[in-house]
Amino acid sequence: MERSTIVRVHEGLHARPATRFVKLAKAFESDVELVKDGKAVSAKSSVKLMLLAVKENQEVTVRANGADAIEAIEALIGYLENPKAGLDDEETHAPANDAGKEAAPASQSAPAVSAEANGLRGVAASEGVAIGPAFAHFPPDIAGQGRMLQADEIAGEIERFRAAVAAVQARMDRALAQDSLSAGDRGIVAALRDIAADDSLTGEAEKAIKGGNDAVSAMIIAASTIAADFSAVDDHYLNARADDVHAVGRQICLALLGQDDVSLENISQGAILIADDIGAWDLARAPLKRIGGVVCGHGGATSHIAIIARSHGIPAVLGLGDRINALRTAQEVALDGNTGQVIIDPDAATRADFAGRVEAAATERAGLAAFKTVTPKLADGKVIEVAANIGSLEEIEAAQEVGAMGVGLFRTELLFMRHMHLPSEDMQAETYAALAKAFAPYPVIVRTLDIGGDKPIAGIEFPDEENPFLGWRGIRMCLDRPDIFKRQLRALLRAAVHGNIKVMLPMVSDLGEVRQTRVLVDKCAAELKAEGVPHATFDLGVMIETPAAVLIAPALAKEVAFFSIGTNDLTQYIMAADRLNPTVAKLNDVTNPAVMSAIELTARAGVAAGIMVGMCGEAAGRPDLIPAFLEMGLTELSMSPASIQRAKKTIMAMAAGE
Ligand code: PEP
Ligand code: MG
Repeated sequence: MERSTIVRVHEGLHARPATRFVKLAKAFESDVELVKDGKAVSAKSSVKLMLLAVKENQEVTVRANGADAIEAIEALIGYLENPKAGLDDEETHAPANDAGKEAAPASQSAPAVSAEANGLRGVAASEGVAIGPAFAHFPPDIAGQGRMLQADEIAGEIERFRAAVAAVQARMDRALAQDSLSAGDRGIVAALRDIAADDSLTGEAEKAIKGGNDAVSAMIIAASTIAADFSAVDDHYLNARADDVHAVGRQICLALLGQDDVSLENISQGAILIADDIGAWDLARAPLKRIGGVVCGHGGATSHIAIIARSHGIPAVLGLGDRINALRTAQEVALDGNTGQVIIDPDAATRADFAGRVEAAATERAGLAAFKTVTPKLADGKVIEVAANIGSLEEIEAAQEVGAMGVGLFRTELLFMRHMHLPSEDMQAETYAALAKAFAPYPVIVRTLDIGGDKPIAGIEFPDEENPFLGWRGIRMCLDRPDIFKRQLRALLRAAVHGNIKVMLPMVSDLGEVRQTRVLVDKCAAELKAEGVPHATFDLGVMIETPAAVLIAPALAKEVAFFSIGTNDLTQYIMAADRLNPTVAKLNDVTNPAVMSAIELTARAGVAAGIMVGMCGEAAGRPDLIPAFLEMGLTELSMSPASIQRAKKTIMAMAAGE
């Protein structure tokens, strides 16, 4: 018996909705299959279901065979037709590679990997300088027995295999039960546990054992097969699940071999962890407090290791490729997470230089702590707001610890990139409200989605573009996708009830973009009113980060409540120098007179119109430039939390005429 329907589950049967669908299917005795485009898979395997890549609005058929077939079809069709199915606990099930607390990369213009006379250069993935003994973490490859099993050995081998799977699942369950696990790390472990508990992987392995392979070889074969299936799907997020499958496979193999993975437990205080790659499972268990720095062959500024390193304040250089092998036998390593520089066995002079920089950083941090509670004012008494740039709620604490006076830039992209589907209005409203409450009465400036073809996210199809930085990004994309944009604006209107929320539009280059947004905001407010949903208005401002915005700044200033200068993009567009291209890095210089003039023109237009002019690009935190920006009339500077106390000190010194 079967029935067809159109899938209404929001963003289709991605990870969480697929797991929930399977749970529901397993509640029935009948054999249940889901059929799409003529391909049928068991509805009782979340891996198989995910690989079917069922998207919203596609037609599928539920097929059931058994005593409770009618009930099964009824329930499963009902699930597929519910847009919110499976999305209620999405926070705890972020994909393993994207979960975790996130901060801005160490350098927006991370240099490409290249060799250097005095060492190596990789991707600057987490800021800070470190020097320490090398801790090489190169777990040996796992191999099977290399002989085929006799027929009478197979049953015993399957039993041994099942015991190993159960042991790994139990270990993951124990890890999940620990209160000390952070929300991000919990998401990582939960996603891995889902895979370890799925019949596809274990079923594939048992098939290989029945074919005469020993359990370890069978597990390696099964993991490769399933991982290859994930890699082949035309979906960015599902591709990333291949690494998770390998990580689970490795754990099961180690359990079979009675080995523990090469442990990071023994890493000494301040050591530099050297690895080709580090699995999510290993990282979630590593003694991160003891790790002085990380250097890896794999990974980039947005890989999960970078995210975890940043959130724990560990300097990291990643993406060295095969050149990581040069560090296998290193005794001591120095690294600079701001530039990507790695030095193997530094000589006495380099060692002294790095030790001095590490010490200077510590001394500076200690001396700056006094500025946490300072409200910086200029000589005329004008308060300068020194706010934080953050991208997730997990960073609130770090910003508050250094005395951030609100948030000058909340990058909402991470909220969208972290999930396998677009975040719901409710989820966004909760996030923005939590942010507003945390900093009240200070303002929090939330930037609407600033995403483009260089950073794809699930749920939005981006065209292939020759020049993504000049393409369909920021406000341009949002205005073309009112379904996505309205959801964010409605969430912001709802959150504005809970604190001082301001909203800022990225990549504005035309007045019409502001006006169209206002129409949408009014429409959203009218809808919320009609629905009886509490909401409040917010100040609407723009980022000034295109030359066009600078040139029309006087007109823009009449229509918005504030400007925030985005020097990262403004510099690349004024100088026509790609911010990610190290070959033109010299031109990508905010101090170039062309860029400084653009900043001054903007400030003048904003001051003349009586609106607030702030800055949220990297330059806002530079002590050498802050006095010039304040003289131009800026009254708000927003930066990564690490720069806040130094900026307050600079302003106070300026006010004192130092
Ligand atoms: C900028 O362009 O200066 C900015 C703050 O935005 P982002 O770095 O996120 O593009
Ligand atoms: Mg920008």
